[in-house]
Order: sequence, then structure tokens, then C-alpha cells
Amino acid sequence: MTPDDVVPLHLADVTYPESHPLAGTDGPVLSFAIRHPEGIVLVDTGIGEGNAWIDENYQPRRREIRDALAAAGLAAGTVRRIVNTHLHFDHCGQNRAFAGVPIVVQRAELEAGRDESNPIRDWVDFPGARYEPVDGDREVIDGVSVLATPGHTVGHQSVTVRTGDGLVLIVGQAAQDARSFATGEADASVQRLRSLNADRIYFSHDRAVLRRRK
Ligand SMILES: [Zn+2]
Repeated sequence: MTPDDVVPLHLADVTYPESHPLAGTDGPVLSFAIRHPEGIVLVDTGIGEGNAWIDENYQPRRREIRDALAAAGLAAGTVRRIVNTHLHFDHCGQNRAFAGVPIVVQRAELEAGRDESNPIRDWVDFPGARYEPVDGDREVIDGVSVLATPGHTVGHQSVTVRTGDGLVLIVGQAAQDARSFATGEADASVQRLRSLNADRIYFSHDRAVLRRRK
């Protein structure tokens, strides 16, 4: 794999509601397709359909993940694995499009996502959902690993991809954006991710990409 085998997919834009720290601003929702020799590994799946509260409060302008894959020249039928950084509505919403595909998520996150109080529980659990809960760090397929980075949620995880030309890091939402990751106050998870010195760094809600000077 090369760093270009990590392909960002822009799956939605939202407008943050009054109750949100980013109230009134628009923000992107990204997922990532990793072109692995054994098939595609998807990191997050964007926003789902049919939740009136989310539609009203976030006004999502959605894109179907299968369309986004096709536009990037990737076949949805070759998705071998899904990794959810966490189970918020804008990260697992289209898991349902991949019945039967193993989904790697931290065990603590899955327990919270399956709680009866979760308004999008049907986006987490659906016919054909096949979760592979993990505890902590794990290589999920050769060269692709999850790293437990709790903070934003109890079971948040980030993803690293080892390539022939350096390390690619998908932060997820362990940091909100590139600037806060690079220069903001760092909790233990961000400190850990910074210490990886990755060559290319992606975020769930910022289209900016950090690149290490060589
Ligand atoms: Zn998010």
C-alpha cells in the first residue's frame, strides 16, 4: 500500500445546532476507504436516513456511501471490513449498507451504542450486523491497526495504516480539527497520536490533511 491508498470520502455536510459547541457553523463528515490488497477497509460510514431529530437539528446534506465509493472508482462489493471510530450518528449511519461485513469497534463503545437510550440504536444494530468488539489496540488486517483513543467517547478509536512510504493516521474525532490536533491542548489520546509522528494525518470533520515534512 501507499499513502494514496487511503482515500477520503466526503459523505455529508451538516449545520451544527444551538446545543453544539460549533453552533451555527457548517462542517463536513468524512469517512475513509483503505485500498488493501485483501479488499477495502472502510473507516466510518457517515450519516444514516430516517431520523427526524437529526434531520431537523443537523440538516444533513448526505451522500450515499455506495455512490461515494463508486465515484472514487471503488467497488462496494469488495468491502471486507468496517472500522467505526465511534458509534455517533455521523460515523456509523450507513453501516446498514454492508450487512454481513465484519465491523470492528471497541467493546465499551458497542455496549453504549446498544443501550436502549440510544436514539440511533437501529443504525447500530440492524439485520445482518456483525460486530467484532475489541479491547484496546489491535491489528485488524495486515498493516491496518486500531488504537484506543478514548475521550470524545468512552470507546473512541483511531486507525493507522502502514504503507511502503510511511504511516498514515486517521485521527477520527479524537481531535475536532487539524489545528487543534497540531497546536491545541492535548489529552492523553492526542498526545499518544502526536507521538506516532505519522506522515499523513486525516480527521473526521476537517478536510485539511497534515503532512510531515520529509
Ligand atoms: Zn462526529
